[in-house]
Amino acid sequence: MTKKAQGINTICTHAGELEDEQFKGAVSPLYMATSYAFEEVEVKRYPRYFNTPNQVALAQKMAALEHGEAALIFGSGMAAVSNSLLAFLQNGDHVVLQNTLYGGTINLVTEEFDKFGIGYSFTKDSKPASFEAEIKKNTKVIYIETPSNPLLTITDLKAIAGIAEKHGLVSMIDNTFASPVNQNPIDFGIDLVIHSATKYMGGHSDILAGTVISSEDYIDKVFHLAKNFGGSLSDYTVWLLERSIKTMGIRVKAQSENALALAEFLEKHPDVDRVYYPGLKSHPEHSLASSQMKAFGGMLSFELKQDLDAVHFRKALKLIKPSMSLAGVESTILSPAKTSHGLMSAEKREKLGIKDGLLRFSVGIEEKEDLIADIEQALEKIKK
Ligand SMILES: *Cc1c(COP(=O)(O)O)cnc(C)c1O
Repeated sequence: MTKKAQGINTICTHAGELEDEQFKGAVSPLYMATSYAFEEVEVKRYPRYFNTPNQVALAQKMAALEHGEAALIFGSGMAAVSNSLLAFLQNGDHVVLQNTLYGGTINLVTEEFDKFGIGYSFTKDSKPASFEAEIKKNTKVIYIETPSNPLLTITDLKAIAGIAEKHGLVSMIDNTFASPVNQNPIDFGIDLVIHSATKYMGGHSDILAGTVISSEDYIDKVFHLAKNFGGSLSDYTVWLLERSIKTMGIRVKAQSENALALAEFLEKHPDVDRVYYPGLKSHPEHSLASSQMKAFGGMLSFELKQDLDAVHFRKALKLIKPSMSLAGVESTILSPAKTSHGLMSAEKREKLGIKDGLLRFSVGIEEKEDLIADIEQALEKIKK
């Protein structure tokens, strides 16, 4: 490193910009071509090869955001997850995965890996010793997600990177919930960082995309698989995503501040039983979270007191909308037992600590006073 790394908002706004040499416009030009010259050119470009001008420029922004060397942009978060895992796993290999992962990742592993002859184990919990306990002779990859969905558990990045190094494994993280604004796992020794860019990077609930960031060598390895699987993102959406990321730093900062204020409000509220948010001192891993996150993000979960119906409460909210996805500028809420974890048996949910009344709250950028007022009016309404 020769020069000091730029700050987050400078990277968000400027890293990987394409210059408009022709007209000197203020934003990156959009190159929609799917066909480029093959003679007397530096690079043979084709969108599925992840190398159009807009893809390359956005990948540079992603790498800068996560302090990596290179990145690839995908058509969805799951395309980034599946290509990253399968690039490092072959027939006969084994992967150790955290027990509390995004539902789609659990489905990918449990529904598809058998047919590739790839073995897998899920940990008992997110403690480092539980990962080490599952490592076998043929283990090649260790895969984590922190903060996790929906109970916001925290996994120790440095400890996991250490375990991976000791056993010669490739470490991967799904960093979607934290976003690059609040957590940069490469700084703690994690090898590959994956995001569903559908969430905080897009930020407006109108883009489906994914990315993986790592060293040049590792990204090259993912590329060689990904060009065959064909999961790249259309250049138009690449261009929109670049535009969205310009405001990611200030959006996520506002969302994190709101989430902390709401978590503190809910924790003190007599109608609320329990709040799960790593920014609260009462969170069992608060000090670990403080050591590896800059702020604690916009996601929190909570349970109302036993005698209050969570579904009635959710329906009584006016400003905070029910929604499957998360991380948009608008506040949304969902019941994990009815959505993300709805296909699981009640018994399995109970084991994971996901009660039927649990509510997952994706905090937006609205004024926090308005969000609090909405929660208060909904609680009043259901108690009548
Ligand atoms: C949404 C999400 C994904 C999957 O991303 P898609 O863009 O929907 O494919 C993966 N991990 C986490 C944590 C997510 O929230």
